[in-house]
Amino acid sequence: MDKISISVKNSEKQYEIMIGKSIPYKLASYLEKNHSSKKVAIITDDNLKPICNQKIADKLKGISSVIISIPPGEKSKSREMKAHIEDQLLGKKFGRDSVIVAVGGGVVGDISGFVASTYNRGIPLIHVPTTLLAMVDSSIGGKTSVNTEHGKNLIGSFYHPEAVFIDLDFLETIPKEELVNGLAESIKMAVSMDSSFFNFIENNVQKILKKDSETLTFLIKKSIELKKNVIEQDEKEQGQRQVLNFGHTFGHAYEKYFQYTKKHGYCIGLGQLIESRISNLIGSLPIEDVQRLSNLLVTFGLPINLDKSIDIEKLIELMSMDKKSLGNVPQFVILKGIGMLKNGNGFSEEIDKEIIRKAIELSR
Ligand code: ADP
Ligand code: ZN
Repeated sequence: MDKISISVKNSEKQYEIMIGKSIPYKLASYLEKNHSSKKVAIITDDNLKPICNQKIADKLKGISSVIISIPPGEKSKSREMKAHIEDQLLGKKFGRDSVIVAVGGGVVGDISGFVASTYNRGIPLIHVPTTLLAMVDSSIGGKTSVNTEHGKNLIGSFYHPEAVFIDLDFLETIPKEELVNGLAESIKMAVSMDSSFFNFIENNVQKILKKDSETLTFLIKKSIELKKNVIEQDEKEQGQRQVLNFGHTFGHAYEKYFQYTKKHGYCIGLGQLIESRISNLIGSLPIEDVQRLSNLLVTFGLPINLDKSIDIEKLIELMSMDKKSLGNVPQFVILKGIGMLKNGNGFSEEIDKEIIRKAIELSR
């Protein structure tokens, strides 16, 4: 088993991420050791509930636990669902001496984290991510949230888990499109911060798609380490953490344009290509590097062309309205090479709308 330790200075928190197999046994002994007198609420979704019963609840012999299951999908990440989970916890007399174990993908992790952060003013949270996206990205870094009609993730908090248990066995039942969805975030970490990791992904496409365990373990570890280095220095996205938004200025607008019917990884994959075209158009990134990224996205079946019906002006308007844009001007993380940022500190910059338009046109 591998262990990665994260220390977040601002909130003086430190937690461990365990990566390996037979993780449920480790989770059970962790809970026995640290929370034996507490009540455990396992929050999951309806698809995962049977696995949860079999793999996790069964192992928690001496611990009092209940499973709270929500319908799968982004629609469940709502304020209403948060209240519904809270009402169940209150009804079952969960108090301060409770622990939340979130078993699922990004949806379960984000809403469970938000519940944990406000329930009785905050109770311990443990993540057991079951999708690649949740393993490499959303369970790490302490962002919790729900969506509203006004957009995704607009209501939430920074709240770090006490521990993260990553069990590769969960990936066995993951369909290819869900695997590739998470891979887009690993590619983001590689293309913006680590050229040798980018080479690794290029050289191991088939092994990744076949879910080779050693290859995926390395991929997950490396992605987490890269994210860890950023958030340890900038917990709340005041500066350096902006690098993690590479591909996301376009990606978020694209997701919103299609009312969140397209998968996040697919949108930010295309976003990375368009944002690297922007980097190229302003003279920072060689065209060969844009092509390399494009080729890699294609080998995983990630889209590199826009939906034909798209209204580019509306898309640019959505980018300007993004919560990360400053004074209505969209901000972009600019690359100068594979694994190399133009602004070493990771800060994003304003880009002229004409350049944005041109970069988008090139992917039509
Ligand atoms: P993410 O945001 O991490 O992509 P979601 O929480 O939206 O993931 O989950 C996507 C879908 O995958 C949901 O329907 C969920 O029930 C399902 N799912 C999650 N983990 C697994 C798994 N290990 N095996 C199969 N399906 C899974
Ligand atoms: Zn993302």
